[in-house]
Amino acid sequence: MSPENRLNPVMVSSATVFDIERYATEDGPGIRSVVFFKGCNLRCSWCQNPESHSSSPQIMYYSKQCISCGRCVEACHTDAVNNIQPFRFVTDHEKCDLCKRCIDVCFTNSRKIVGRQMPLDEIMDELRKDKTYYRESNGGVTFSGGEPLLQAQAVLYLARSCREEGIHTALETAGFVPWSAFENLHPWLNLLYFDLKHIDSDIHSQYTGVPIEPILENIRRAGELFDNIVVRIPVVPGVNDSHDTQGRMMGFLAGQTAVRNVELLPFHRLGMTKYEGLGMRYAMENVVNVRKSDCEPFAEIGRGMGLTVRVGAG
Ligand code: SF4
Ligand code: SF4
Repeated sequence: MSPENRLNPVMVSSATVFDIERYATEDGPGIRSVVFFKGCNLRCSWCQNPESHSSSPQIMYYSKQCISCGRCVEACHTDAVNNIQPFRFVTDHEKCDLCKRCIDVCFTNSRKIVGRQMPLDEIMDELRKDKTYYRESNGGVTFSGGEPLLQAQAVLYLARSCREEGIHTALETAGFVPWSAFENLHPWLNLLYFDLKHIDSDIHSQYTGVPIEPILENIRRAGELFDNIVVRIPVVPGVNDSHDTQGRMMGFLAGQTAVRNVELLPFHRLGMTKYEGLGMRYAMENVVNVRKSDCEPFAEIGRGMGLTVRVGAG
């Protein structure tokens, strides 16, 4: 399977986003605003943002606030809401037409739409609000997701607009996209973050749904254009937390001249309630959180190969 086969069409006048986070400090240098694009072509078992998977807006259900009154079931004209165990009043997204009637009748604010189509100019207006913070902290704007490069034209427009206004730009990508996306963006990006989840294609496919080869090839080629690539490795129990796997990943990265910084991200289950709210099963429900100290031996492997490795995002 090639990345081209799964690339969604994009619009240049708007983008589908599920959040714009202000005052972020873990997605690049300084204080940043992070645009989270909705839609992803990977399905990582440990993903903490399941609301990023679908490229369409969806209804999220918050069970803790719900008083089981059933008004949402009665209000829904497409029979998309039903009290289904164990998730309770979640939405069948295939049936839902986003009419919002179930939201309007809910007294407890237990339902909301995640994601919306935003005009690019409106996104830029949001990003401009914190220009002073960017300037004073050497921060800027980060494009994340989901996979932002599935909306490559929108990212291109925003990155170019930011750079023309002197705003630092960074992009976080899983890299399973056509190479042309990187070529086009290159002049407008200051910093590139790549995810690397495994080095064996079969295991990568098993846990993410796609092979690793196109991603490795994009990391190799990115070194021809970018001189500032940071690679992020999620450390996930039973998936890639062995010395052998980490050693081979670090070995690959040490061979890429543009990759000098690596961040190891310990697995945690913080996204679990979001899976429940979307009526999705979470495959890592019983997997224990990884401590930072568990990652240190892997960091040492990379440091021994000349990489700068830190545990945690920054
Ligand atoms: S938004 Fe409308 S169609 Fe969707 S679940 Fe709610 S009431 Fe039903
Ligand atoms: S209307 Fe709100 S409180 Fe009532 S069952 Fe639906 S989600 Fe729960």
